[in-house]
Amino acid sequence: MKSLVKSKFFCILPWLHLNGHPDGSVHLCCFSNNRYPVGNINNESMQSIINNKNMIEIRNKMINGQPIPACVSCYEKEATKNESFRQKMNNFFKKDVKSVSSNYVDDFKLKYLDVRFNNKCNFSCRSCSGEFSTSWYKEESTIFNIKRNYSNNISKTFIKEIKPHIIFLEKVYIGGGEPLLAKETILILNELLVYKKTNIPITINTNLSNFKNFALRHNSLLKQFSNITILASIDADNKKAEYIRFGTNWNIIYENLLFLKNNFTKINLEINCTISILNIFSFTDLYFNLLKSNFISSDKFKCNLLHQPLYLRSDILPEIQKQKAIKKIKKSLSKINNDTKKEFLSVILFLQNKNYSFLIDEFLKNSKILDESRKQSLFDYCPELIFLNNRR
Ligand code: SF4
Repeated sequence: MKSLVKSKFFCILPWLHLNGHPDGSVHLCCFSNNRYPVGNINNESMQSIINNKNMIEIRNKMINGQPIPACVSCYEKEATKNESFRQKMNNFFKKDVKSVSSNYVDDFKLKYLDVRFNNKCNFSCRSCSGEFSTSWYKEESTIFNIKRNYSNNISKTFIKEIKPHIIFLEKVYIGGGEPLLAKETILILNELLVYKKTNIPITINTNLSNFKNFALRHNSLLKQFSNITILASIDADNKKAEYIRFGTNWNIIYENLLFLKNNFTKINLEINCTISILNIFSFTDLYFNLLKSNFISSDKFKCNLLHQPLYLRSDILPEIQKQKAIKKIKKSLSKINNDTKKEFLSVILFLQNKNYSFLIDEFLKNSKILDESRKQSLFDYCPELIFLNNRR
């Protein structure tokens, strides 16, 4: 099926990957919309999910050039002329794309691992929820009355399902929860070692608060792997970081950045900066500050455009403020390299693409509820947004 390579909607992941969540639900990948699970590990094995009705239908659509509702974030990213996860994965698994011959997977081999074994996390970031954070879990059940039904055995079930596939893995992503607090991270690394999978790309997506402790404890294990990327979720520095990613102590993050830079030169550090209304006016400053401190090289800053929750999207800004934000981003373009330029340009296109300004009241309402619970105040940390309060 030669034309698949060029298809706008084809993605190789449903042929070689399944993404597990801490509640047992199984999804197409970590970028697919949570509202469209393809199965649940509590009811079905991965082997069975890979060829269930949902998966067959999705692969059928992909082969026939039809869009998938769960994959909108990839299509939106492509609309901003930036490379989507779909395109990255099709490129990484080129050989597999060429060998796709039907909507059925005869002999399932998990080649890309991304399972969130539990939601243990010491942060409760504004963009997250109880699904991926135990700190959030407690807070949302108190203030939003959200009840989630989690089983302690999910992690064991996922591990059991994954073990036979370790030998086939070509790419690993370890997220969470906070993976540097999870025992499953060590378990997976040890399994990879058993099968001599020490050269495959391994990305650990972390809030970086515990890197030093983790690395000192597991130094000899980490040093056996040659292709580790620490993908640090940092959206702002100093006080603003402590607001957006609640639980952050910026001095500790700074110390961890310094420790990583000085002691693990072979580990690739990348910043995963989630772009929301909370940092749309300041993420360029973060980039230049990190460069100035020599924490990252100029091409290691990724802009992760926040799509959900909708009320936190950067494109809820009213038009006049969007123009201000765009002006600031444009001003930085002459000082950055081409890779980062692409990232920043994608933010501009994202801002221009849609208008979600009708969600401003919802943003203010939710911010207020959380602010009261966390004893914070939006405008103390993001004074540049004060116009939202004064707009009527
Ligand atoms: S198209 Fe995008 S969202 Fe859909 S499965 Fe592929 S990478 Fe995931």
